[in-house]
Amino acid sequence: MRRLAAGNWKMNGTAADLAEVAALTAAHPAPGCEMLLCPPATLIDRMARAAHGTALRIGGQDCHARATGAHTGDVSAPMLAEAGASYVILGHSERRADHGETDAQVCAKAEAAWASGLVAVVCVGETEAERDAGQALAVVGRQVEGSVPEGATAENIVIAYEPVWAIGTGRTPTLHEIAEVHRFLRAELVSRFGAAAKGIRLLYGGSVKPSNAAEIFATPEVNGALVGGASLKAADFGAIVAAL
Ligand code: PGA
Repeated sequence: MRRLAAGNWKMNGTAADLAEVAALTAAHPAPGCEMLLCPPATLIDRMARAAHGTALRIGGQDCHARATGAHTGDVSAPMLAEAGASYVILGHSERRADHGETDAQVCAKAEAAWASGLVAVVCVGETEAERDAGQALAVVGRQVEGSVPEGATAENIVIAYEPVWAIGTGRTPTLHEIAEVHRFLRAELVSRFGAAAKGIRLLYGGSVKPSNAAEIFATPEVNGALVGGASLKAADFGAIVAAL
């Protein structure tokens, strides 16, 4: 399993922050591990140039389901690929909440990503109210069922489990709770796609930082992390990559 540390810069970063990329490209993930940064679309091209020839991969944070057309403000998968992206985050909870993205839309975006040769990083996760109601597994099961297209393989998809209440809050589930959800997701994927789905990478996301990365990576069925705030500084993200 190629473990993956993925950074999501969200709506942060200008040209001045490319210095962080220069520092990161000097970092070497352990053999067989990958590191990925997903900056705002405006920085993908420049970041991909800066990362060229290094172990750092670059991704987008969203794409439209169509390749071109009258969709003001949107960016398509072929555009991301041309700019140098090899991954794209899809269905992040902030997009589901801010833009009303549904599982069906995320699924269509993942197919568009594949058509452009991008790996889709599909995000799922329950709200605090859903967890308190004992619905966490049911919610992520429904999301993964609806958001992941037929034809998913270890090469074209990554699933990120991000409890909404853990994103940017400094709070994380217990390691037992993370393992429970990841085991459940693994079983769902294997039952739908067969034994090959054992190779699909399952990332945990939500308040991952250098101080908790190692224990999270040591949790059963955790194959890496999707990191928001702590991916903005090369020192923090580099420490998380080193813990892979
Ligand atoms: P966080 O964000 O690491 O800042 O909690 C994670 C994410 O939203 O991907």
